[in-house]
Amino acid sequence: MTVVQKYGGTSVGSVERLRNVARRVAARAEGEQLAVVVSAMGKSTDDLLALAREVNPRPPRRETDLLMATGEMVSSALLTMALIDIGCPAVALTGAQAGVFTDETFGRARIRNIDTWRMHEEFSAGNVVVVAGFQGQSPQGDYATLGRGGSDTSAVALGAALEADQVEIYTDVQGIYTTDPRIEPKARCLKDIASEEMLEAAQQGAGVMHPRAVELGLLYEIPILVASSQAEFGSGGGTLIRKEVQMEPENRVRTIALDRDVSSVTLRHVPDRPGIASQIFGPLADAGISVDTIVQNASELQLTDLTFTVTGDDWERTREISRPLAAELGAADVLFAHDLVKVSLIGTGMQSGPGYAATMFRSLSDAGINIELITTSEIRITCLVRAERGEEAVRVLHAAFALDEEV
Ligand code: ADP
Ligand code: ASP
Ligand code: MG
Repeated sequence: MTVVQKYGGTSVGSVERLRNVARRVAARAEGEQLAVVVSAMGKSTDDLLALAREVNPRPPRRETDLLMATGEMVSSALLTMALIDIGCPAVALTGAQAGVFTDETFGRARIRNIDTWRMHEEFSAGNVVVVAGFQGQSPQGDYATLGRGGSDTSAVALGAALEADQVEIYTDVQGIYTTDPRIEPKARCLKDIASEEMLEAAQQGAGVMHPRAVELGLLYEIPILVASSQAEFGSGGGTLIRKEVQMEPENRVRTIALDRDVSSVTLRHVPDRPGIASQIFGPLADAGISVDTIVQNASELQLTDLTFTVTGDDWERTREISRPLAAELGAADVLFAHDLVKVSLIGTGMQSGPGYAATMFRSLSDAGINIELITTSEIRITCLVRAERGEEAVRVLHAAFALDEEV
């Protein structure tokens, strides 16, 4: 059996925790081919970024990636030393040494292919292979990182390349919950969740899994177990992300996600003529900014209002690009809001049951929480609300849909 395990930042955040991980890895390695992907220790990626910004407020992307990649090298080297110390043969590899090749988009590189010969060679020599997550080698031979939280994606990509039987993601919670347990302590840990549901949740801000990791799991049909790095090994528990999930006895919301970093741009009174949307979104797409939600109001007197949202650090550049665009298009006004969050209900069961949206809107309104924007997909309903009410909105909805109760 071939298994890929991944340990997140908190799980390798101290010498004591590294030793704990080494014991678990050694136990799992008995008779199996085991690749272990590690994140940087604790918050060290944040520390490295802060350091970069101290010497240059706008650090160059190539060197930022080189710097950030060192975090995962530290933890992979240390974990390997801890493994060897307890008699478990192991070897540490950087992403490049493990054969992870990416494109050249520094900061959010995509994995192009993985050449597994070195890992197979190490398996044949009886080694556990400890791979630095979050990184790969660009076509020019540079270090490129996969985007924050990207070690999950390294793990699932290695799982696909090695044709692993399972990928195990070990983290600081017991598995995937009905919502972030830090926001709602009554949240329940799910036994399993459909890949499509997890993909929506990850894309909508549930930080527990990197969206591209879930996407790869779905594409290559690899079951992913998310579990605690603290629980006793083999004690069961955790959440299985997989293609088919047993039908719930009743339709329900499976999980609620909160995306904390949403900004919106509203162009007011834009002349409503064919082509305006492409004039606005073309330049944003050219700048590599992915626009999230677009709402255009019904036009009145040939004028329309158009609102769109972006997430994360695309905000600054979006503002830079859309201000002159608004003037060019003859908009009366352009409004920016940087204090929004997205609250999403997710569940495949919602497709067939009516009333979810109505209950969501009523519950928020009863709590006096104003909805700024609404968007939906087949298995998701999202409301944008003001950031200061975001966590409360999650708790209100968690209670409204009785997610703390076992079905
Ligand atoms: P790691 O460093 O192991 O990658 P992360 O911090 O990236 O860990 O992800 C784990 C965190 O994700 C948890 O501590 C939890 O606060 C958060 N989280 C958000 N949504 C959920 C959810 N639905 N289920 C479990 N954890 C969640
Ligand atoms: N160390 C990286 C980060 O903090 C990657 C990861 O942890 O997955 O984003
Ligand atoms: Mg993570």
